This record gives sequence, structure tokens and C-alpha cells, in this order.
Amino acid sequence: MAEKVIIIGSGPAAWTAAIYAARANLRPLVFAGRPKQVPSLVLPGGQLMLTTEVENYPGFPEGVSGPKLMGHFEQQAVRFGTRIQTDDGQNPDVSNPDDGHSYKYHDCTKVDLASKPFKVFDEDGVVVEAHALIIATGATANWLGLPNEQRLARTGGGVSACAVCDGALPAFRNKELAVVGGGDSAVEEATYLTKFASKVYMIHRRDQLRASKIMAQRALGNPKIEVLWNKIVLDVLGDQKITAIRLKDTKTAAESDLPLAGLFMGIGHTPATAFLEGQLELDAKGYVKLKDTYRTTTSVEGVFAAGDVADSVYRQAVTAAGMGCKAALDAERWLAGNGIE
Ligand code: NAP
Repeated sequence: MAEKVIIIGSGPAAWTAAIYAARANLRPLVFAGRPKQVPSLVLPGGQLMLTTEVENYPGFPEGVSGPKLMGHFEQQAVRFGTRIQTDDGQNPDVSNPDDGHSYKYHDCTKVDLASKPFKVFDEDGVVVEAHALIIATGATANWLGLPNEQRLARTGGGVSACAVCDGALPAFRNKELAVVGGGDSAVEEATYLTKFASKVYMIHRRDQLRASKIMAQRALGNPKIEVLWNKIVLDVLGDQKITAIRLKDTKTAAESDLPLAGLFMGIGHTPATAFLEGQLELDAKGYVKLKDTYRTTTSVEGVFAAGDVADSVYRQAVTAAGMGCKAALDAERWLAGNGIE
């Protein structure tokens, strides 16, 4: 028997879709993704798994840790009958509620959207069929790939890929911070950080910003922002907390250390859409194209997309959760309209 709805992903969009779909008696099945040793394209639990303290998710006046918040999302979805594809079958309750994911959860490796019902390929090669699909695999912030960068990012050591999420934390107040990148995101992050920081360096590998003119002017005209041109980051220094970064000048090859209290990545995001193998319409950057920006419908009927995988603009946990809700409602209506209840 085909599933009514399969949800692929396990961030705020996926679990919110699961909560709504479960409460609509659709008994959703979730492919939450298997945690890997090496950061992979699909991050189980989503980007919040890399965030220590979430202070902007409504309902948590004191803040909440990212993994704990995702654990809560999942527990709420399971409470209403969500099932999760695991090593032990379709089991609802194998995760650690405090870290928001389980090593038993399975990846979906590919989908076949041409067949009806759709086919979802489990990492074991097992095929599970579904009448409706919700794609909520997110987008991964791009990182420089430096070992110390990942270590300090995962332990709240002052390295982050989201200024809006982390910039207001006390550790960054009145301190010197840096943003890597020269695009609109980097400018936006740097500008945002000037609200809290004493100074923000933008570290860019070229001598010209990629950002749109108006955004570039905003950065260049901000007295708190200094752009360090033609510089690449060689290493992040610091044991428990970042203390400095090592820079290399791309023109002179000279190396220098820049003392910092925080380092933010602004070098773009990669949406987790490779597994779709071109079966859904994507935009030029690989994000799922929504048929109607107000809905979650995609180029294939019965396939819905929610969260960062279909949103390169807002990329917030709360907007992803809102889209997850919309996707579940869209899927429920679509199933009912096609006589699948
Ligand atoms: P982006 O435009 O692709 O810019 C990425 C930046 O990071 C570039 O400056 C790039 O350098 C640099 N970079 C990439 N990999 C790097 C590496 N390994 N080491 C050092 N630097 C690296 O990405 P984005 O800024 O996230 O923007 C994505 C899209 O969203 C764009 O279309 C943008 O206009 C849009 N956006 C709009 C707004 C807004 O309008 N408010 C805000 C955010 C984003 P190079 O320049 O040398 O390639």
C-alpha cells in the first residue's frame, strides 16, 4: 500500500509538515536523514543543529538550543502518529529528544516522480511508494572547509553561518567580528552585525564586491564596516573560543593574524536538491521553484516543497516552519481532491 504522504527532511519545515499531516490523519512517513561523520548535503535536523542558542524562535523567551528545539519539533510530530524510516523499520521514537536526531534514521537517496504513486528510494534500496511528497531537505550554508572552523561552529566557539541567528548573542556585543564573502548575504550579515559589534570586517577574496550596487554602497558607507580586500582565510585560531583568524593576501601572499570575537560565513548556500536528479523544476541556483510563490506547489502535481530548499530569501526557522504547515495543508487538500483520504 502506498503511503499517503512522505516527508523528506527533518528541519523545522519537515517536522511542522509532519505535525499538520499527522493531525490530519495522513500518518506521514519521514525520511529524516542519517547523521554522517562528514557534513553531508542533507543535514539531519537541519541548520539549527549547528546553532547553539536560538533566541528568535517565538515561544522561547529565554532562548533554546537548536538541537533541543528540533527534538521538541520531532516529539510533537511523533505524538500525533508521524512515523520515521529507521534501521528498525518505521519507528516513531528512537531519537534522543535532547539532540533532535538518531543515528538510526534513514536517508532517501533518490525519488521517481514520473511514476504514480511516486517512488522514494530508501538508502537500503527499498522502495516506498507515496501519493504525495513534501520535499523539505533544506539548504546548507557553505563553509570554508577549515577543520577549526567546523570544530568551533559546532561547540558555540564563535563561528557561525547565520548572523541573524547568532549575532545578537552576548559574546559578540561590542566586539570585533568578521564576515567572509562579498555577495548580498555577506553585506546583509555585516550590516546586521554592526548593531551589536564595535567593528565588522568583511573579508573578500577579490578586489570588488559581488553584491548589488545598492547593497555594496551600504557596506562601503558604513563607518563600522571595513572591507579587507584580496584576502582568504587560512585558519581559525582559538581553543574553546575563536581568538583570531589567519589571513593570506592573494596578491602578495603575505600572511597575517586578525584578532576577532566572532566569524560569520556569508559565502552562499547550497540547496539539497541533488537527489531530485532534475525531476522537479529548480531555479538557477538549484532551489525548488514554487509554481505559485504563495503556495508550496511545484512543477510536479502532488509534490510540495517547504523551507530553505525552496526559499533562498528568508531562510529562518520560523519561516520554514510556516511553509511546512502550508505544505501539509496543500498536500492534504490535493490528496482529498484526488480521492485519497
Ligand atoms: P553569492 O551571491 O553567491 O555570493 C557568495 C560570495 O561568497 C561571493 O562574494 C563569493 O566570492 C564568496 N565566496 C564563495 N565561496 C567562497 C570561498 N570558498 N571563499 C571565499 N569566498 C567565497 O551568495 P549570497 O550572497 O548568499 O547571495 C545568493 C543570492 O541571494 C544572490 O542572488 C543574492 O543577490 C540574493 N540575496 C539577496 C539579498 C537582498 O537583496 N537583500 C540578500 C541576500 C542574498 P566571489 O565574489 O569572488 O565569487
